[in-house]
Amino acid sequence: MKTDTCTKCGETKALEDFTRCKKSKTGYRKTCKDCRRVQQRKWMDENSDHFKALCRKQHLKVRYGITPEDYDVMLQKQKGNVLSVIGTVRVLVTKDC
Ligand SMILES: [Zn+2]
Repeated sequence: MKTDTCTKCGETKALEDFTRCKKSKTGYRKTCKDCRRVQQRKWMDENSDHFKALCRKQHLKVRYGITPEDYDVMLQKQKGNVLSVIGTVRVLVTKDC
């Protein structure tokens, strides 16, 4: 069984515990899957605002074909009329994310 040592935790693990990476010499990443999971979770936590914005953007585009900028313009232009629709959009965005 081929093994490699994780540069993060220093443990020697089976290659199947490392994510494949074509750019790497060994064909696998230097950090093990467990360490990568921890790193990704930390990164996601630190960037949660970014993800929320991204999620909102994608949701508006997929469901309504509009950008967050369109949404803001709509909101400014038709505050009274669109408010109920926008309210629905906001609820859906929050619910799905
Ligand atoms: Zn590790």
